[in-house]
Amino acid sequence: MKVLVLNTGSSSVKFKLFSTKKWSVPASGMIENIFEPVSTVYFNTKNEQRIYSEKIGNHANAIGLLLKMLISHRVIIAFEELDAIGHRVVHGGDLFCEAVLVTQEVKNKIASFAPLAPLHNPINLEGMLAVESLIENVPQVAVFDTAFHHTIPSYAYRYALPNSLYEDLGIRRYGFHGTSHHYVASQTAKAMGKEIHELAMITLHLGNGASVCAVKGGKSIDTSMGMTPLEGLMMGSRSGDLDPGVIFYLMNHTQMNADEIEHLLNTQSGLKGIAGTNDMRKIEERINKNDPLAILAMEMFVYRIIKYIGAYAAVLGDVDVLVFTGGIGEHSAKTREAICTKLTLLGVQIDTHLNTRNNTLCRSIHDPSSKIALWVTPTDEELCIAKETVQVINRL
Ligand code: ADP
Repeated sequence: MKVLVLNTGSSSVKFKLFSTKKWSVPASGMIENIFEPVSTVYFNTKNEQRIYSEKIGNHANAIGLLLKMLISHRVIIAFEELDAIGHRVVHGGDLFCEAVLVTQEVKNKIASFAPLAPLHNPINLEGMLAVESLIENVPQVAVFDTAFHHTIPSYAYRYALPNSLYEDLGIRRYGFHGTSHHYVASQTAKAMGKEIHELAMITLHLGNGASVCAVKGGKSIDTSMGMTPLEGLMMGSRSGDLDPGVIFYLMNHTQMNADEIEHLLNTQSGLKGIAGTNDMRKIEERINKNDPLAILAMEMFVYRIIKYIGAYAAVLGDVDVLVFTGGIGEHSAKTREAICTKLTLLGVQIDTHLNTRNNTLCRSIHDPSSKIALWVTPTDEELCIAKETVQVINRL
């Protein structure tokens, strides 16, 4: 089977084409800065890597171009060769607890959750419509970022607000990065030679967006992101947890309106707000030169993470393994070490040699004396989406 995965973001479209035989990737790429006067197109096949600039203008044009490039670069001969298209959809509300075939009813529901994810759901939907306008009769599947967190109990997902806000407006915690948390939890269990159902795990997805998940018996029982991806850890440019009083203070004492405050908390805060950049590599370089704001940004980032690990250790009752993933989790040995050396209460012992060894594979980094196993497990959200897409198609 050939499965195309589309990840339609606010200003970019990423794609990966999978052949399900060995889950090989005959083509992948992305178009970024879609709304800028000039966008950048990356298109990779086994034999060539193309990067060039072109005016794209909107998501439909971007998807149209990527699909046509699959043919012009002879990756496929006709669209009919595609057996399915899997879409990453950010918000499935409290309705979708697993991936589903895209139907008119599903599209209506995804649209109805747009107020909960205004930057993502309308664009995810646009991706599906763009495909439909170009290709007939190829089934599309929606894979939801929220679905894995469907098992979180109500006492963990409810906010302490009047019931009517939950019942009438759906105001509750949903959680995100579900595909990634589920994938790295499963991969780590497999690498440990265990069944995921036997393990109590804390998975740390540390990228530009960052979240922690407590996984027990293979199910998410709590996660740090909430009704929106703004809650929880300090992130690349998002504030994470914040006293809501700060928002009222800004409204009452500055000229900022709700949209401007939302923009501030989503795009100007986090690592960027403290150190002026959301790039952890640059922050690490500046730490080496004793830059005080870079040091503070790292200290804050790590402190928030260890607080969540402590909380989730209490929630789980026991922790077998801590899993690092995402751009920072996979590549920043410095961040991993800073986190692990602060977890002495939990009996965590990192092996500094294993931690700093150049390795991009799924690997353990703990000392044999550690009470909790430590793993670095690369995430692959596209592969996970492709596998879930195939499961839905096979059920048809
Ligand atoms: P996104 O959430 O946008 O998918 P990523 O998972 O790609 O983000 O993570 C981006 C973050 O990972 C950035 O802060 C980047 O600096 C960091 N990162 C990537 N490579 C390294 C590295 N070698 N060392 C330290 N940080 C890294």
